[in-house]
Amino acid sequence: MSLKNSLLLTSSLLFAPTMLLAEGAAHANAPNVVVSIKPIHSLVASIMKGVGEPALIVEGAASPHTYSMKPSNAAALEKANIVFWVGHGLEAFLEKPLESLGSGAKIVELDDAPGLEKLKFREGGAFEAHDDGDEHEAGAEGTEAHEEAGHHHDEGEFDLHLWLDPINAKAMAVEIEKTLAAADPANAATYKTNLDALNTRLDALDKKLVETVAPIKDKPFIVFHDAYQYFEHRYHVKVAGSITVSPETLPGAARLKQIHEKIVELGATCVFAEPQFEPKLVNVVFEGTAAKSGTLDPEAATLEAGPDLYFQLMDGIGTSLKTCLSNAS
Ligand SMILES: [Zn+2]
Repeated sequence: MSLKNSLLLTSSLLFAPTMLLAEGAAHANAPNVVVSIKPIHSLVASIMKGVGEPALIVEGAASPHTYSMKPSNAAALEKANIVFWVGHGLEAFLEKPLESLGSGAKIVELDDAPGLEKLKFREGGAFEAHDDGDEHEAGAEGTEAHEEAGHHHDEGEFDLHLWLDPINAKAMAVEIEKTLAAADPANAATYKTNLDALNTRLDALDKKLVETVAPIKDKPFIVFHDAYQYFEHRYHVKVAGSITVSPETLPGAARLKQIHEKIVELGATCVFAEPQFEPKLVNVVFEGTAAKSGTLDPEAATLEAGPDLYFQLMDGIGTSLKTCLSNAS
């Protein structure tokens, strides 16, 4: 052994125990995990309980649709052993940073998880799907609606708000657990125990949501952005339209007028805003109608990150729908 190497060895022996103490014994062997958005971060945090805590990119009230990377995010990615994200159609801001990441990190695109039920984007928002026969009326707005929808179509044909269905969350959880166990076999038993506990909780959540929305299932309502397809599909609630297809594209005057007319036609309905976007647009479409207003938070802007967030998010959607729509008639 050369003198230089033995010096390095000595210094690493001297410094290693200090570093272990600083990081805490339980975290010493945990992989560095980075997660793109809060709902997914919550699932990963549940599975990593007792081992470590994943880092989160889209923090606070930010939206994945309009996010831009911060230097601290880039630094976290550079240290990452595993990165979980939903996919190209959702976190566009991550595409380039992930491409330039070294081969050291395992990148898991969760929209590829086996067992997911995936739904295609709806043309022009939720309207067209429920439109019967008044196509001539929508003709003038046709071009605009197409442009708005086109933004999403460029990024893929599937709607990636996959987490708004607890059964899809279960499929993603399996993929998360598999990835963690492969990268960190020493903690595999803990990941498996945590996955089982998460699955039990997700099943209970699913049952609870069926009961929560039962009284309001047939009442159509208007949402801010077209995020709720998976929730609708699982629980048979009725979104009659969205103000915008995606928050990065603001609706034009013609679309706002069309939605205003839809609300007038629906009468006793609810219009749901989202906390991170300007309520002005929502006020514009529902002003002067008999509709009531509520708030839905599909991307958990108001919730604190952690294992419980996913359950608060889904519970919150069910409860907001029930509260507003039961009072709307
Ligand atoms: Zn969204």
